[in-house]
Amino acid sequence: MTESLTAGRVYEAGGRLAVESARFTGFGWMRGTSGNLSEVVSRDPLRLAVTASGLDKGELTATDVAVVGPTGDPVAVEGVPPLVPSAEAGLHARVAALTGAGGVVHVHALSAVVAGHRWPGGVRLRDVETLKGIGRLAHDDEVVIPVIRNSQDMAELGDWFEAAYDPRTPAVIVASHGMYAWGADLTRARHVTECVEWLLSYALAIG
Ligand SMILES: [Zn+2]
Repeated sequence: MTESLTAGRVYEAGGRLAVESARFTGFGWMRGTSGNLSEVVSRDPLRLAVTASGLDKGELTATDVAVVGPTGDPVAVEGVPPLVPSAEAGLHARVAALTGAGGVVHVHALSAVVAGHRWPGGVRLRDVETLKGIGRLAHDDEVVIPVIRNSQDMAELGDWFEAAYDPRTPAVIVASHGMYAWGADLTRARHVTECVEWLLSYALAIG
């Protein structure tokens, strides 16, 4: 048990995860039951509230949430019935641990998959206003969104993420799969996700 973590805190996060999931589902970025979102609910020890596995992301409620530790394994919290966390929770935890993010978004946006296919060495962007939306400069700042290979092994995927990680760039594409984006909190992670998806669509449109 994580003594200081309450069911109320977990379900507050679950409510935010449900709202954001419905938004991204509306954009077509979480087809079927794909994609998952998480919010850090404890930093030490690291605990994340993550969307539960196998559910339609457009229909989540505040209680459709699981709590995981640093490896993505479920952690018991009093008053929170254990649900199966998303299979990708382990990468969410690695992202949160490495970047210090408070919110992590994973979506299967088509633009991310197509851009990863077109530029497997990374998607290069510069001189476009929307780069400011991910904390970079609108002029003379070359941004590379890294592309890593896909894997069903979250430890392996996490190692590849760490190798590709640039602290200046709050997103990564997983080839033939989707993208991850993160921010200080879930709202910031949403802003980054939306801007990165726009930037990838832009790169494909002009490239
Ligand atoms: Zn996925």
